[in-house]
Amino acid sequence: MSSPLDILTLQPPEPAARPAPPFDVRRIRADFPILGQQVQGQPLVYLDNGATAQKPRAVIDALSHYYTDQNANVHRGVHHLSQIATDAYEAARRKVATFINAASDREIIFVRGTTEGINLIAQTFGREQIGEGDEIIITEMEHHSNIVPWWMLCREKGAKLRVIPMNDRGELCLDTYQTLFTSRTKLVSIIHISNVLGTVNPVREIVQIAHAHGVPVHIDGAQAVPHQRVDVRALGCEFYTFSGHKMFAPTGIGVLYGSETYLDTMPPYQGGGSMIQSVDFDNITYGNLPNKFEAGTPNIAGSIGLGAAIDYLNSIDFDGAAKYEANLLEYAHDVLRGVPDLKMLGTAECKVGVLSFTLSDIHPHDVGTILDQAGVAVRAGHHCAQPVMKHYDIPAATRASLSFYNTREDIDALVSGLHTVRKIFG
Ligand SMILES: *Cc1c(COP(=O)(O)O)cnc(C)c1O
Repeated sequence: MSSPLDILTLQPPEPAARPAPPFDVRRIRADFPILGQQVQGQPLVYLDNGATAQKPRAVIDALSHYYTDQNANVHRGVHHLSQIATDAYEAARRKVATFINAASDREIIFVRGTTEGINLIAQTFGREQIGEGDEIIITEMEHHSNIVPWWMLCREKGAKLRVIPMNDRGELCLDTYQTLFTSRTKLVSIIHISNVLGTVNPVREIVQIAHAHGVPVHIDGAQAVPHQRVDVRALGCEFYTFSGHKMFAPTGIGVLYGSETYLDTMPPYQGGGSMIQSVDFDNITYGNLPNKFEAGTPNIAGSIGLGAAIDYLNSIDFDGAAKYEANLLEYAHDVLRGVPDLKMLGTAECKVGVLSFTLSDIHPHDVGTILDQAGVAVRAGHHCAQPVMKHYDIPAATRASLSFYNTREDIDALVSGLHTVRKIFG
């Protein structure tokens, strides 16, 4: 709500971004303090970026600055610090809107992460619009957070999940996708980039096909935003969700983007403070967007940290970073191919730096534990995507996931660790 005092707290416009210097991994690594660490007496080789990314100094400093100089609750305060905190919180929302090219700040809802964003859609849009006999289309390569909320909704309503299958390279079968639509299809909810296979799905085409059937689309962008530019208006999707922590921001903050037309007509998610216009015991009117979906005190520090991560990505050559990463992925594929008995899971034509593999029949937990002895951090398990494990008929896999701060030396350390694993289990 605007008040005459707002004029006093207006922020100067954001300075025009200076062109970023060309991508240089040595300089970039210096921005991430944790990368200088030793683990087990060896330099840290962090290859678990699919689980969470490390934070640049700029993000850590923004959190510290917020708590040192700006901390207050937002929205309700008339005092100086509350105005500053509110301005910083709303500035972060504007940064997110610009970052994904949303039409308006009102389309950006701060949530805990991708998981909460998807649950919000399921509990509001889903519970209101999806009924008995209706259908939701997802894919075989979804993360559990884009399966379980829909499965729960289906159980509650008597609706059904339809699943787009994938081939052994980890690419979706779009021909089958076209045949899954019926008059009962109410939503398509798909993963943008697979967290196990690295596959970049043709989401623009998937949206167009859904729209031809009059069906809205949600895209799980958790693995996309750290690797490439995302433009929600170019994609044309109704909903897009992602987590701050996988894109160099703090944990506990994430984003639900929803087109205003949809968000406006959806019921609120949680009830509480800040999401109302008026309350008495007979009648409650809900607030406007985005407040309607942000009950209670939000994660103010987290949102400011997310804004700082976006500023950071804008300050580097992000397109150069993506090219560098693609190059590194190619190198990784080449050298991993030289490890005997290693079987790569995702080999899609279009993929980013996620390398999941099995190593003969050595359990991934053993692989991960031995790699850790060499300072190499990878993930072992089902990666919250058990249907993908089922597709390949394995219980688990080892996953190395890249970021633009990784180097060829990191990949070499991984490969040398894998040779050690083979020697031990020889
Ligand atoms: C990590 C991840 C999620 C869940 O994100 P949270 O931050 O745990 O809520 C969902 N989808 C994909 C593809 C992911 O990689």
